Amino acid sequence: MAKGGRLPFGAASLRRLFLAGLLALAAAGPSAPAAAGDGALALLADPPPAGLPAGLAAWHRLAPALVGRAGEALDAPDAALLSRVALELDPRLIPGAYAIRDPEGAGRSIVIYAGMAAGIDTTIRLQVAGHEAADCRRRHSDGFYRRFFAEVGAADETGALGSLPSAEQLLAGDPACREAANRLAIPSAALAARYETLVEGALAFLLLHELGHHALGHEAPASPAASRAQELAADDWALARLPRLVDPLDAFPALLFIARINWFRPETEAAMSHPHGRQRLLRLVETILATTDDPGRTRVFGSLHARLAGLDSEAEVASAASADPRRADR
Ligand SMILES: [Zn+2]
Repeated sequence: MAKGGRLPFGAASLRRLFLAGLLALAAAGPSAPAAAGDGALALLADPPPAGLPAGLAAWHRLAPALVGRAGEALDAPDAALLSRVALELDPRLIPGAYAIRDPEGAGRSIVIYAGMAAGIDTTIRLQVAGHEAADCRRRHSDGFYRRFFAEVGAADETGALGSLPSAEQLLAGDPACREAANRLAIPSAALAARYETLVEGALAFLLLHELGHHALGHEAPASPAASRAQELAADDWALARLPRLVDPLDAFPALLFIARINWFRPETEAAMSHPHGRQRLLRLVETILATTDDPGRTRVFGSLHARLAGLDSEAEVASAASADPRRADR
């Protein structure tokens, strides 16, 4: 496919980005992205790209309507920018999404890789049926989520926030987790509707974050610190607009997965192009709290916020991280 040569990264730098677990921004590329004017809606009207995992069909199916809603909900300049951006679901299993600009012209695109969508999708599916995930958790808990929920103390607050098995566990065929995943495959209209709502929430956040990079005119960052500042700016841009598109709660699984790949690890801190996952999750939780008057939601997320905010010492987080036996594997 012609698309293959479009990524503005060499294989080595792409691998470095992959290893660092990044949602990276790339501002310059040797070959042109989809031509300006193609527009997200036109591109997504095509059949799903060959090789897109079957489990992500809903992502492709739901994206055009979500982009259409974004076009209506955003202010005119942002909507005009969106109409010129080509959005693409790429089947490659890279856990990232990219804002790409053609330095030669006006072409801009947003690429969401299947690796990112699949990781979020797994989190969504397990979150949709929290008790199924809890069955799995009791037998085989994933180090990250065990540590994360122990740190924030939220494991017992709500089943919806309960500890989740990792995508790796599912893909590795852990029997208990596979059993839980199979139960999630049983059709249920209510679960299916909730699943689709959460996919829309994830798409909305990813779309707005990458659109934010374009709107803010971000160039390829000169340093990891500059990159982290750009990422927070893109998050803030996205979160300010997210409530116009979706219930911010519906982006929670997406941010939970993103927090997981950007969780603080002392040995990679200097090279991290993205902020600490706790910082990013905290901002979403603040958005959730600012846009609800539901007492239950306020209690649960108020408690989660207090505990996330309390993790203000990176040394404290590093010490918690070092207790994770799986840390060396990531
Ligand atoms: Zn970004």
